Order: sequence, then C-alpha cells, then structure tokens
Amino acid sequence: MLLEQRHATGAGTGEKLISNLCADFICTLYSAARFHRGGPSSGYDFRMSGAEAVNSVVSFEEARQIVERHAAIVRAAVSRTSGTEPVELLAARGRILAEPILADRDFPPFPRATRDGYAVRAADLQEVPARLRIVAEIRAGACLESEGGSASINRGEAASIMTGAPLPAGADAVVMVEYTAEISHPNAAKDAASGWGTPGADLKSGTLGNELSLGALERFVEIRRSVQSGENFVPHGAEARAGQLLIPKGRRMDHALIGMAAAVGKSRVKVFRKPRVAVLSTGDELVGIDATPGATQIRNSNSYSLAAQVEEAGGEAVRLAIAPDEPGRLRALIEEGLSYDLLLLTGGVSMGKYDLVEPVVAELDAEFYFTGAQIQPGKPVVFGSCGGSHPHAAKDAAPRSGTLGAAAADKMATRTGVSAPHYFFGLPGNPVSTMVTFRLFAQPMVAALAGAAPEPLVFLKARLKSEVRTKTGLTRFLPAVLSGEFEHGEVELAAWQGSGDIAALARANCYLVIPPDVERVAVGEAASVLLR
Ligand code: AMP
Ligand code: MG
Repeated sequence: MLLEQRHATGAGTGEKLISNLCADFICTLYSAARFHRGGPSSGYDFRMSGAEAVNSVVSFEEARQIVERHAAIVRAAVSRTSGTEPVELLAARGRILAEPILADRDFPPFPRATRDGYAVRAADLQEVPARLRIVAEIRAGACLESEGGSASINRGEAASIMTGAPLPAGADAVVMVEYTAEISHPNAAKDAASGWGTPGADLKSGTLGNELSLGALERFVEIRRSVQSGENFVPHGAEARAGQLLIPKGRRMDHALIGMAAAVGKSRVKVFRKPRVAVLSTGDELVGIDATPGATQIRNSNSYSLAAQVEEAGGEAVRLAIAPDEPGRLRALIEEGLSYDLLLLTGGVSMGKYDLVEPVVAELDAEFYFTGAQIQPGKPVVFGSCGGSHPHAAKDAAPRSGTLGAAAADKMATRTGVSAPHYFFGLPGNPVSTMVTFRLFAQPMVAALAGAAPEPLVFLKARLKSEVRTKTGLTRFLPAVLSGEFEHGEVELAAWQGSGDIAALARANCYLVIPPDVERVAVGEAASVLLR
C-alpha cells in the first residue's frame, strides 16, 4: 500500500505561519472573509442571503485550511500559556508533551556492536579466509575502560562480541558469527604454558567481572568474509549527543516516544492539561442511551461518538444535556457550551424549519468562518466563534487574546470585553456526517487546544475492489472497508443507506476519498483512503 502524506494546509503550519497569522491572517479572517451574522435575528426563520450562502460554503481544502489557521493561533497561545501537569510515563500515552525531551547522555554511550560475532580490525581481513586469535569475549553490559574494564585487540586478534556489547579498542568492525568458525590452536596447550595468548596478557578483568572471560585453552577463529571498517557497530554518539533534543514539546506521546523518554530516564513527563470540550446534541427526537426510545425517538449516539473522538484527539469531553429544537433552551445550553474551551454541536445545522443552531449562535454575536463545506457526508458543517469568558475551560489556561494580533484583539474588545474567541462547530446530526466532520475539521482544533503540533491528514492509497461512480462537485468520504494482505491494500465501499446509516460505519474501517472532479473510479485503480 502506498503511503501519501498530504497536509491540507497550503501555507504550511510552522512557527512562521503562526506568527504570520497573527499579523495577516487575522485581518483577512476577521474582516474581508469574515461572515458575520450577528445581531438580533428576526424570529427563527433566519436564513442567509443567497450571495452570503455561496461565499460561506467552501471546498474541503479551504475548510481545512481555515480550521488549521485558527488551530495555529490557538496552538501558539496554548503552548505559551496553558497549564501543564506531570504524569507517570505510561499515563502520558496520547497526551501532548509540554517539555522537550533531551538526551541525558550520548547515544549510544559506547561504540555498540549490532551483531553477534567477532570484533576485528578490517585491515586484517583483506584476504580471507583469515585466522585471528581470540583474545577476549565481550558481553552486553561489559564494563568500559572508564569503569575499570578494558579490552583491546591488536593486529591478528579478534574479540568474540555479542550484540549490544562495547567494541574493544583497536577494533573497527564486527564480522557476523555466521561467517566465522572457531578453531582450536593445535599448540594451544603449549602456547598456554608459555603464556602466549593467556587471558589478561593485554586484557584486564573489569569490576563487573563479566566483560572478559576466556577458557583455559587458547582459541582461534577463522573468518570467511572480509568487512569494511565501520560495519556492524554504531559509533559512540552517532544516534544522539548528550543534551540533544530528542522529542520537541507538542508531540503526542505514543509508544515510540514513551520508549524514547524511558531511554533517557524520564519516569514522569510534563504534559499539557486537557482542554475541556463541550458536546451538545440537539434534536427533539433524541433520548439518552439508557432510555427506551419511543417509536419515533432515537438514542443520542452522537454525544458518545463525539466524546470518544474528543478523547482520542487529546481533549476531555463534557456531554451536556440534550438540547430540544426550541430556541430558549437551546440558547441556554449553547451559552453553557461556549464557556468551555470548545463547543461541538450536533444536529440542527441543515435547512429544516427547526434547524436552529445557526440563528441561535448568530444571536450570540457569532462569526462564521464557514457555514458549509463541499463534502459528502457533512456538507452543512459550520465553524465559527463567539466572544465570552471561559469559566469551564481547562484550569490554568490563560486568556488567549495576547496571541491574536491587534486586529483580533480589537475585535475581541468590541465584543464582550473578554479575552478570546470561543470556537464552536455545528456538526450535522446524521451520525456518519458527525464523525466525518469531526475527523476532518474539529479534530485539529481539539488537538491544537491540547497543545499538539500540527498533525497532517494522512491519505493511504489502495486498489479499488469494485467500481465507484459518483456525481462531481463534492469531495466524498465514504465508509469503506480496507483489506488485502501486507502492502497490497484493497478497498471497497461499505454498503450504506446514506449519512444516517451508523451501522455502515460499524462495518467499515476507513473512508474512501473521492475528489470532487471524479465521476468514476475503476476496479484496480489506486484510490485514496483516510483511516478513521
Ligand atoms: P439534523 O442534523 O438535526 O437534521 O439531524 C439529521 C439526522 O441525524 C436526523 O435523522 C436525526 O435524528 C439524526 N441525529 C441528530 N442528532 C443525533 C444524535 N445526537 N444522535 C444520533 N442521531 C442524531
Ligand atoms: Mg435535528
């Protein structure tokens, strides 16, 4: 399976972008491209004008870029001001590192054999087979010279060596044991009696007592292959030097980084506090998952899938009460949700008469960065922000206005006089749409609030198992099944009844991604796949 990394940010996401954003992007975002629908709405049949509607429905790439730009602003602020906590190393899995991890010593701290075999001088093996006298056996953990041990080889000598053991002085390569055969010197006993080849002649036992040991008989080895100088060992300090940065702040701790931290002796690491993300499901038809639904009611599964996605992204999910499709109660719950670090709404963002999310947030002086994306499923997705304080935000999280640049800060001040925008996403209520739109757009914001460095969307390539036909115009993220063996990935659509079909997602394990200009993908063609 081919691996294709695609970062949907045109401008890049480094530090430069963050600082540029504060100056340039904010102006764009908050003035020209800003789609402001604030002010009291005239009842709840508010609809944007045709021209505005066209402007605010953006392509998948544009929507992702908009989100990533806001994520960059948030990330810069979090990295400077957000609270941190120390955690046990294993508890750091999935958390975002709030301190850099440095090498506590050189890696490797000694020239480390990478094979079992014989430490040799490559120059002795210009002609093979060659016979070398074994003058030492060096095990992993053998004592170094600095610790009272020593081992060295001279011309015509070799040291039997194990993977992970320190190379003796004088050696510049290791020959794999597979290319050698140990032989006894015919005059071993005589030589031993004369002192020739006795262990300790030019070797000394170290304090560990396990680094050098030879039996009573002198031993020789026949080497059948020559080696290049430098083969089969890693030079001292080649992997990292003491004090070198190994893991930068902002990385999400996975098993590899936990291993790295363990290798430098960090049994506790400092991580960012989790942002608190409110999850607010809307809809008169919804009941709690423990309830027995009436004939036309459905269980509020979105709050749970979203909560799980929030946790996976590095946040702490707070599930609010179900909001009815009634403006007063909905507004109260939205206001509560806006007091968290981020608010995720589901449902109520389509064009139905009781889709009230947009008009209600508009009443709260919302700014809409987009009100739809040219994708399927999930087209009605909304992203915006409101002013206000963060009483429920992660403890110790400092106000964020300082990072937003003058234009944004002014904008903040003219709103509620409070520090930072309160971002919200209105995700469509259909369960597949909810999960897809979180994955594409909300995930980077949660990750940024958690202090994470940009994490690109990674698309795989797999051969299509059965033909797919679609209409052009939308980027599709269709539930699909990725199978195949080893590097021969195959993908096919999962049977589905549309974006309300949560069972299709249970059958699927990925999304098949179809670009907006593609009508047909034939069997055997390489198709893009997004793991969920
Ligand atoms: P809406 O986006 O409100 O128009 O809802 C679209 C579809 O998604 C409807 O069939 C809803 O019943 C369903 N839906 C909305 N919210 C949820 C939820 N929280 N859990 C499961 N399904 C939902
Ligand atoms: Mg609804």
